[in-house]
Amino acid sequence: MMVLCPSCWRTVAADAARCPHCGADSRQFHERAFREKLLGALSHPDRDTAVRAVLILAARRDPAALRAVEDTIRRFAKEPLVVAALMNALCVIPTADARRMARAALEHPSVIVRRAAARVLEEIEERERSREQSSG
Ligand SMILES: [Zn+2]
Repeated sequence: MMVLCPSCWRTVAADAARCPHCGADSRQFHERAFREKLLGALSHPDRDTAVRAVLILAARRDPAALRAVEDTIRRFAKEPLVVAALMNALCVIPTADARRMARAALEHPSVIVRRAAARVLEEIEERERSREQSSG
């Protein structure tokens, strides 16, 4: 289980005594406030912090994750590296909307984004295949 350091916004193992990045005391890392912090980090002026928050929401299967991806892509629409990084969140969101977003990104003007979207779609298909095999 990973938590988000409330001081530097990087991920930290939940059982760490201190944040390995900035040294903050982990007693501040309360799960109850964690989701609030993630949602708040979405509007953080630092793009890396916003992207990290999106990726963590997705990894936690948070119901707000897809909306967070959409909003953050819109916010950084002119920054292909940020949009490409956000594509990765779609891998772990198991909805048709997530797949639709990845497919739509195949038409993006930036090759960086198109490549990231193609990789994401491959990974989604791969996951579906292995799920079928394990259940079948
Ligand atoms: Zn920290």
